[in-house]
Order: sequence, then structure tokens, then C-alpha cells
Amino acid sequence: MEKETTGGCKRCLLFEMAGKDDVIAQVEKTRQLLKDDERSSDAEYKRRLELCKECDKLIDATCLKCGCYVEIRALSKGAHCPGKKW
Ligand code: SF4
Repeated sequence: MEKETTGGCKRCLLFEMAGKDDVIAQVEKTRQLLKDDERSSDAEYKRRLELCKECDKLIDATCLKCGCYVEIRALSKGAHCPGKKW
């Protein structure tokens, strides 16, 4: 994890950040609400998040281009990266 002096966690995903249990629960709830044909495969979800982790627009698990938590955005098969990385 790459810590910023402001206390934020740069280049981290929610599951890596302390104190984000509510949001992590929301990620799981969103995953369960999606139908099988609406949900990204596990491999695609992992691929997307790896790309986000390398992206300079990821701050505090949030995409600065769209304002979404990437772990929620990446769940949906039909979602896309606003920076065209996935
Ligand atoms: S621009 Fe794309 S790759 Fe970068 S954080 Fe946002 S969704 Fe992820």
C-alpha cells in the first residue's frame, strides 16, 4: 500500500484499507444483487482491478475520472473504464 501524507491510501483497493468494512459489505451486497449474466467473471473482475491498481486515477479506492469505487464499478459486466483501460 502506498500511503499519502494526508492519511489517504493511494493505489489501494477497499479490501486493503482499514476502516472500510461497511463499503466492503456493500461490494459483496452489490455482487449478490447482480444476475449471473450481469456480473463480471472472477477473472475479468480481477483483471480490471489490477489495471485500476496501476492507474494514477485511483485514490482511496475511488476512480477520480468517474467518482466510483472501482470494486463496485468493476462488478458489472457491462461497465467500462472511463479511461478506456478496461
Ligand atoms: S480510469 Fe479506469 S483504470 Fe483508472 S481508476 Fe478509473 S476505472 Fe480504474
